[in-house]
Amino acid sequence: MLPCARRLDEAIDLDYPGAASMKAESISIGTEILLGEILDTNAQYIASRLPALGIDLYWMTQVGDNLDRLSEAIRRAWDRSDLILTTGGLGPTEDDLTREAIAAALDEPLSVDGKMEAQLRAFFSSRGLVMPERNVKQAALIPSARPIANPRGTAPGWWVKRDGRILVAMPGPPVEMERMWEEEVAPRLAKLATGGVIVSRTLKTMGIGEGSVDEMVGPLLRSTNPSVAVYAKADGVHLRITAKAASREEAQRLIAPMEEEARGILGKTIWGADDETLEAAVGAMLRERGLSVATMESCTGGLLASTITDAAGSSSYFKGGFVAYTGEMKIALGVDEELVRRHGVVSQEVARDMARAVRERLGADFGIGITGVAGPEPLEDKPVGTIHIALDDPDTSGQAISYTFAQSRAAIKRRAVTTALFLLRRALLGR
Ligand code: ATP
Ligand code: MG
Repeated sequence: MLPCARRLDEAIDLDYPGAASMKAESISIGTEILLGEILDTNAQYIASRLPALGIDLYWMTQVGDNLDRLSEAIRRAWDRSDLILTTGGLGPTEDDLTREAIAAALDEPLSVDGKMEAQLRAFFSSRGLVMPERNVKQAALIPSARPIANPRGTAPGWWVKRDGRILVAMPGPPVEMERMWEEEVAPRLAKLATGGVIVSRTLKTMGIGEGSVDEMVGPLLRSTNPSVAVYAKADGVHLRITAKAASREEAQRLIAPMEEEARGILGKTIWGADDETLEAAVGAMLRERGLSVATMESCTGGLLASTITDAAGSSSYFKGGFVAYTGEMKIALGVDEELVRRHGVVSQEVARDMARAVRERLGADFGIGITGVAGPEPLEDKPVGTIHIALDDPDTSGQAISYTFAQSRAAIKRRAVTTALFLLRRALLGR
């Protein structure tokens, strides 16, 4: 670990012009991005965090590991932006050129800091390793830069301040970058934020279409602060309430009455808010009621079981599941052979019997069966995207949904899982 935070705090002027007037730019560094080998999630992460700090992002730049082009990108950002946030290129290898490029762009000498070098060597020896000499460049600084601690890796970040501008260089690996952002960078930027902040609250609905939600909350959409917007997403229709205010607390005060009004209109179609997932929301309902579920999946190949277990604590309500891909396997697991022969494996009758069989076999309160055609070829003359999902419980005749959703295999599977969870949620609401 390279803790240099104290020196960094000393380097920050709290009378900086203020984030309200800050124009920010992100620079994602790495040839892998330009070759399409990795997705630039760092830029998306940074972009999603700036509104809450009241900082406006004007530019998103991507550039490869090339010294000339990288320093050109930094020079350009330095000319047009107040805050520059770079990720990547801080490693020890020859193609990690971010430090060299910043030094060139700002025309400052790069030199190894003795104290940082000692810390770096200590980091390696504490792991019983000898530091490769290449790594010494990670202890280099320019006069305008202060190091930022990176306990998840060897490369410290840089906080560069000069000419009324700030440049923050962070490592490329998302786990290192996100930790550095949360613990080191965002709190310091927040201190500079003298202007407004933008805060959002997202209400997640399911079971009604985008158009219907839009119509139901129609009058709310005319509000300007907070503003209200409707988005169709993979897990249903989201309603986002966004407020701009001088502080987070004040923004939340603007949001609260609007949220109450929206909840009054949308009622039980709202299954969660903000970062909550459908599997966690349904899981919480099962847990509260002391009920359990088991699954038998065909075309989703275990994705439903996998999604259910994405929620922490799922062992208290998820009994288990079978992936029964072939007709014989379904029959071996207790599905009625006669039903399969009569209706074919892609049928609502078989989905219902899969749900019943797995519920009985695993002794769960609910059983879910999914069968369908994920494509790209039709099956038993049933078109691609045909899906049958059934829910079985001991007290009622259960529920089933059949629909066609002609999309890619991955999208068909995902939609089926979301629909299955929704079916379960609907049954739980009545309990
Ligand atoms: P290292 O010390 O690991 O070399 P670094 O700061 O030099 O770190 P890079 O070499 O640019 O970072 O990238 C290392 C890895 O981090 C990449 O292979 C990629 O997996 C991930 N990464 C880099 N940039 C991004 C980005 N913009 N979005 C998502 N992941 C990224
Ligand atoms: Mg690297």
